[in-house]
Amino acid sequence: MKAYDLHSHTKYSPCSNLDPKLVLKLAKKRGLNGIAITDHNEIKAAYQISKLNKDKDFEVILGSELSVNGGHMTALYINELPKELDFLSVVDSVRSQGGLLILAHPYDLSRKHFYFTK
Ligand SMILES: [Zn+2]
Ligand SMILES: [Zn+2]
Repeated sequence: MKAYDLHSHTKYSPCSNLDPKLVLKLAKKRGLNGIAITDHNEIKAAYQISKLNKDKDFEVILGSELSVNGGHMTALYINELPKELDFLSVVDSVRSQGGLLILAHPYDLSRKHFYFTK
């Protein structure tokens, strides 16, 4: 079985102060096989960490947590940020890049956007 962290932030997000180098080091130290770097509306650190990673058995996924119409969606396997952050533009952009688009925290009741009820 492989273990990945598919939602991680670095100092390029307002909610984290982790240096990109430290994120890579910690992820490997904790025995993960890979990590997705998903800074808020940013992809810079994902590129930095991907470049820093010299271990072919460790995968760094380029991603970003996007503020889509006020709700957060995580885009994985992207190479660039969508130009616009409205829902349809984000879907088009991520699809054209062959990426994955995921609701970042669908069950977080403290957020008004994108959560599911029965
Ligand atoms: Zn997040
Ligand atoms: Zn979020």
